[in-house]
Amino acid sequence: MKKLLLLMVFCLPLLSMTTGVEEASSVYICTGPKATVYHLSNKCRGLNRCSGEIKAISLADAKEMGRRACKICY
Ligand SMILES: [Zn+2]
Repeated sequence: MKKLLLLMVFCLPLLSMTTGVEEASSVYICTGPKATVYHLSNKCRGLNRCSGEIKAISLADAKEMGRRACKICY
């Protein structure tokens, strides 16, 4: 019984790590030089003025690039 409890303690942090669903979802960014945000939808009007390309990347990557969530679609 003690062993089982120990196993649970070790497994819990692992479980919470794999439930990072939000981080795995993809967002849309504009590759233009003035773009600083990421979008939930590639049809967002914030992307209309995009001077570069619209690219789908993971949310984690977008955050790593220092992007903020778009105020229009988020
Ligand atoms: Zn947007």
